[in-house]
Amino acid sequence: MTNSSTNNLTVTIPAQKLTVSHTPDVVVVGGGATGIAAAIAAARNGASTLLIEQRGYLGGMGTAALVPAFCPYTDGEKPVIRGIGLDLLEKMKHAAGEDFLNRYEQLLDWVPIDVETLKRVYDAEVLASGAQVLFHTVADQVLLDGDRISGLVISNKSGRSVVQAKLYIDASGDADLAALAGVPFQVGGENGELQPGTMCYVVTGADKNRFSQFLADIGQHPQLEELVTLAQQNGELPEGRKRISGMAWISNSVVGFNFGHVFNIDGTKAEDLTRAAIEGRQLIDTQIRFLKKYVPGFEHIFLVHSGDQIGIRETRRIQGDYTLVVDDFLSMRTFEDDIARNSYFIDIHLANAGSTMTIKHLPKGKSHGVPYRCMLPQGKSNLIVAGRSVSSDRPVQGSLRVMPNCFAMGEAAGVAASMASVKDIGFREVSIPELQRKLIEQGAYLGDNPGLAYADQEVPVGSVHYEEEN
Ligand SMILES: Cc1cc2nc3c(=O)[nH]c(=O)nc-3n(C[C@H](O)[C@H](O)[C@H](O)COP(=O)(O)OP(=O)(O)OC[C@H]3O[C@@H](n4cnc5c(N)ncnc54)[C@H](O)[C@@H]3O)c2cc1C
Repeated sequence: MTNSSTNNLTVTIPAQKLTVSHTPDVVVVGGGATGIAAAIAAARNGASTLLIEQRGYLGGMGTAALVPAFCPYTDGEKPVIRGIGLDLLEKMKHAAGEDFLNRYEQLLDWVPIDVETLKRVYDAEVLASGAQVLFHTVADQVLLDGDRISGLVISNKSGRSVVQAKLYIDASGDADLAALAGVPFQVGGENGELQPGTMCYVVTGADKNRFSQFLADIGQHPQLEELVTLAQQNGELPEGRKRISGMAWISNSVVGFNFGHVFNIDGTKAEDLTRAAIEGRQLIDTQIRFLKKYVPGFEHIFLVHSGDQIGIRETRRIQGDYTLVVDDFLSMRTFEDDIARNSYFIDIHLANAGSTMTIKHLPKGKSHGVPYRCMLPQGKSNLIVAGRSVSSDRPVQGSLRVMPNCFAMGEAAGVAASMASVKDIGFREVSIPELQRKLIEQGAYLGDNPGLAYADQEVPVGSVHYEEEN
């Protein structure tokens, strides 16, 4: 491809008079796990709520990028992600049909995603909450009035218009609103390293019984490390991760894959996303050949669908009132203003084909708190950022980023927005004890013996556990 960019040329666009198209109490930008929970929570708690999504369906990475399974909801002993997120998981299981329900009814960790069912469940649940949804709409400019956002410019087939809300929830996954509003942020590691992207996909025509028999016969781990290594040695798979990390059986013949990496992709750059889409599809072709040739049970597979976009694990992390750091994770710290618990391991994928994964688990049954302040961007009063771009260091982002956590953070942001809307205040004035009480009443889990503001208790700091794999 030729590079036709002309970075030094600029054009001044004439000032535009735009219609104010919507005046909700709360606007949520981004209809992924975070935005779905935020919109449902805000609307259920009485705020008029508008959810804006650039695609024609909800689900973000879990549907658009075909991420094939939900990460664990439990800490190995009990669910730590409850509330709206858990309810949506259960609704998907029940809506996906008898076969799916029979397979996964008892499971809360690594439940495969039936994408088309999940899209319909999300539609139904968001609409039932009373939130309004606007698809095919991009939020591309914020209007500022001191420390407040006074309007959000949206673009869609109807043209450009302005949403004037009291409260703004950035659930874009990339902290787009925060960046547009001038909130400071970091991207990736100190040397600009970023987790790779993965183009996920779904195949049909697999034979689960034959595959299971093969695993039993040779005693191999389902991630097929030996076969992947052999194919890499034979030049039939590229170098990089030595195993298939995500293989999700949706039925006995339909399988979702989260396999392999595309490196050096900044998900906030259109050129990188374009290259990743093309490279990702080429990689899938290579992988399908590998699966057919090397893996019993996959000889007759047929590629049904690849992601509408490459899956992006990491972009911006905002600078918030508190930055959650790896020591908080390892010491399983509880904060007075916790709005969720996290027990998912630190899961940082290799930044290039020659490096390794960073994995650190907490002990079974353990978790740490996620403080409300991580979601409050410095310098802005009526903006909250939830999801994978909250204020954290890079290792913690590698853990917080998964969908169950995004549901929990989104739910808290939505409840806080509804409370701020009623009192006409900013996010920092929201009463933390009242927010925590509401979250717990509505099914969220904030710990068994929390030292939370609402409980007014001392906070015990847990012991440190540090485990390095790979
Ligand atoms: C390859 C890969 C594998 C993963 N594996 C797992 C896994 O197995 N299990 C798990 O639970 N998690 C997994 N994750 C993590 C998880 O999928 C994401 O981190 C999570 O979905 C983030 O949720 P979110 O709602 O914050 O953002 P997203 O899912 O990215 O959703 C953001 C939404 O906002 C929309 N949007 C963005 N900007 C704008 C804008 N300006 N205007 C309008 N709309 C906008 C997007 O279209 C999108 O729908 C994986 C991620 C990747 C990439």
